[in-house]
Amino acid sequence: MSEPFTYDGGSVAPGEIANVRYTVSETYLGDPVRVPVTIVNGEQDGPTLFLSAAAHGDELNGIEIVREVAHEWDHSDLHGTLVCLPVLNVPAFIAQQRYLPIYDRDLNRSFPGDDASTSAKRIAARIFRNFIEPCDLGLDFHTSTRGRTNMLHARADMEHGAVARLANAFASNVIISTQGPEGTLRREAADAGTPTVTVELGEAHRFQRPLIDEALEGVLSVMAEYGMRDTETVKWPGWRTVIDGSDEKTWLRADAGGLVEMHHDRGSLVEEGDRVCTITNPFKTDSTVIQAPFTGLLVGVLENPLVYPGNPLCHLVKLDEVTLRAIRGRKLADRA
Ligand SMILES: [Zn+2]
Repeated sequence: MSEPFTYDGGSVAPGEIANVRYTVSETYLGDPVRVPVTIVNGEQDGPTLFLSAAAHGDELNGIEIVREVAHEWDHSDLHGTLVCLPVLNVPAFIAQQRYLPIYDRDLNRSFPGDDASTSAKRIAARIFRNFIEPCDLGLDFHTSTRGRTNMLHARADMEHGAVARLANAFASNVIISTQGPEGTLRREAADAGTPTVTVELGEAHRFQRPLIDEALEGVLSVMAEYGMRDTETVKWPGWRTVIDGSDEKTWLRADAGGLVEMHHDRGSLVEEGDRVCTITNPFKTDSTVIQAPFTGLLVGVLENPLVYPGNPLCHLVKLDEVTLRAIRGRKLADRA
């Protein structure tokens, strides 16, 4: 039999859906700062999965993913509970910036939080204690930093068995395996017994429909893996590469200031020696061509074409032969 989902101040019975505005802080005027939360408690027993977005306030794609799952999907045969947090970082969301406006704190370095510390850690503590720690699993949606864009990929600690199972179930082509920095939601949640994966997709300040749809398929696949829906099956993405170790990925950086023309989109396969982008001066009299140092996948690329020396241009990851053959094979099949 299914159990009620309880948090400090409320309880949601099996078969119920609750839209809650949960107070996590106060403004200068003493008004509540409230985080929207939708709790969908299925009639049937199963795991509790949280879906969260906008821990960085300008990263919007995940918001639409979480809202669609919460409010557009049919939950009549849900086994377990969904805890949907479309906007974690409300002050940054209102300001449409990445960090909390006060002191520029990163909410995603403030978990699991502390009720007696900074405002960021107090906000983090209320979210974590009530809506993260009680869950069995979690997906935290992010996008690239402003000015850059990412292909859809998962970031997960693949050394951690339960996290690896979740990341594989999400069924993205690319998984970057790291534990994640201290204070990130995924690392602290996993340490507290809630296996969590970060999903990166696209760029800040946008709703990018094809990426949102791809991620929604990943959520369905996760729900299938853990028996949360009877009708779905776990997806196989066609090919998968797990990147770990610093030798397999690199940020190509600009050595000259200038204006950048990218020659490939995010998610493209580039061959060793291929021109990735060209940096030119204002007169177009001088140009620097950036070549791929090895054959690999462009996981992240520049969107804003202006660079200083040292600025990142793109994130290139190396692929093994099996993966390369799978990708090239699919390309040929697409063309046929
Ligand atoms: Zn982010």
